[in-house]
Amino acid sequence: MDRRAFVQNAVAGALASTAQAQPAQTASKMIGIQVGAVSFVDEGVSKVLDIFQQSAYVNTLFIATFTYGRGIAGRQVPGQPLPDHGKQEYDTGTFKGGSYTRVRPQYYKDTVIQQFRAPDFGDYDVLEAVIPEARKRGMKTICWFEDVWNAGVPNIEQAQEKRFDGTNATTLCFNNPNYRNWLLGAVEDYARSYEIDGIMWGSERQGAFANALGASHGGNAGVARTTCFCQFCENKAKARGVDPAKARAGFTALETFVQAARQKKRPVDGYYVTLWRLLLRHPELLAWEMLWTDSLRETYQAMYGKVKSIKPSIGVGWHIWHNNSFSPIYRAEQDLSELTKYSDFLKMVMYHNCGGERMQSYIRSVGANLYGDIPQQELLDFHYRVLDYQQEKPLAEIAKSGLSAEYVYREAKRAREALNGTKTQLWPGIDIDIPTSAANSKSSPESTRDAVRAALRAGADGVLLSRKYSEMKLANLRGAGVAIKEAGLA
Ligand SMILES: [Zn+2]
Repeated sequence: MDRRAFVQNAVAGALASTAQAQPAQTASKMIGIQVGAVSFVDEGVSKVLDIFQQSAYVNTLFIATFTYGRGIAGRQVPGQPLPDHGKQEYDTGTFKGGSYTRVRPQYYKDTVIQQFRAPDFGDYDVLEAVIPEARKRGMKTICWFEDVWNAGVPNIEQAQEKRFDGTNATTLCFNNPNYRNWLLGAVEDYARSYEIDGIMWGSERQGAFANALGASHGGNAGVARTTCFCQFCENKAKARGVDPAKARAGFTALETFVQAARQKKRPVDGYYVTLWRLLLRHPELLAWEMLWTDSLRETYQAMYGKVKSIKPSIGVGWHIWHNNSFSPIYRAEQDLSELTKYSDFLKMVMYHNCGGERMQSYIRSVGANLYGDIPQQELLDFHYRVLDYQQEKPLAEIAKSGLSAEYVYREAKRAREALNGTKTQLWPGIDIDIPTSAANSKSSPESTRDAVRAALRAGADGVLLSRKYSEMKLANLRGAGVAIKEAGLA
């Protein structure tokens, strides 16, 4: 037996013994779908659940309980074609966002953020409306909420991050007790007030260094508006032995570099070498990035501990931002051996269809500063190599083609291997009709089927159909169903 075969057999053996130890958990997989309140209001609870069960054999609902964003709540994003179900009109004037469940003030005594109820549907509480019918059908319910706020929320300025230029950001600071206590209050409210099976929260952000470089899809490079430099973060930095004044000096130097790069003024030693010179001279740049990442991890840990102290059977996990598929910096920050300590499950975003457009956007952004010396096709090839993707299209084509099902397979396989031997379940997020610009790749029943097939073939513990039912076409949902059925999960 050669070494590779030996390793494969050893892994197979380890998996088999895990399966024997936990027969109930491995007998079926989590088939989830993200859905907002508007779909139940527009189409009716029974009808929506019928469609989920009949089209894609869904056994778990991820109900958007709180957000001010349109990514997981509200009808189709205005400007995108309406899908073939639900009210055939946009909610441009009526979508507001906030909490789609009742707000119980006793859980928010330790924060100034107290008025955040979504006014969209009056007193409607989406969990009260859906859970009884879901339980009758044996479907699980997971509260799904995200780190997206609105500047109009009363007192919000007392929880907002501070930008480098001293102004308030619209994002909230994990180290600010007003936000930390709000998050803990929200999960306590969910855990005590409803018969739920799980809680998932997501934050699609990163630290000041990565933001300054625009190291994400849609990334805007520049230091002035990056976060966080509030008193809580500066005090936390000092406690870690990081001098805020030195960090400020580092970011000031980084700003000069980024601004020059934006104007295509190449430093005499080139962009990449100059960036390294900055990092060597100002190690606080990375220390500040890690301060932010650690603060997010501590937030996860605190929320996890709070829920487990109330009801240990409630599963707790996280939505991991798509930037994990593009930026090696962000991927390095998603250290699964660390996250597993406070994650019953991870929804790792592996949106193949919009992934092409987003990868192109990421490459253009970082190609305009730290990698400014490298032709962008070469830069993309480099990323395919270091991120371990194969068979993906050239830069000129990926927005129109999307990423492949092979991308989903490789990402799911990598994450599943990183989680082996831990309690954490891997639930890849599958793209169904996530908006792309008109000229770019669109979801199809076949590509959706292939993405689900790839995730399951890679050993994922389930799939999470994303981002929201109100933007999905039924034929594409049924495409997911084809792969789920052929995997014996119907
Ligand atoms: Zn802060």
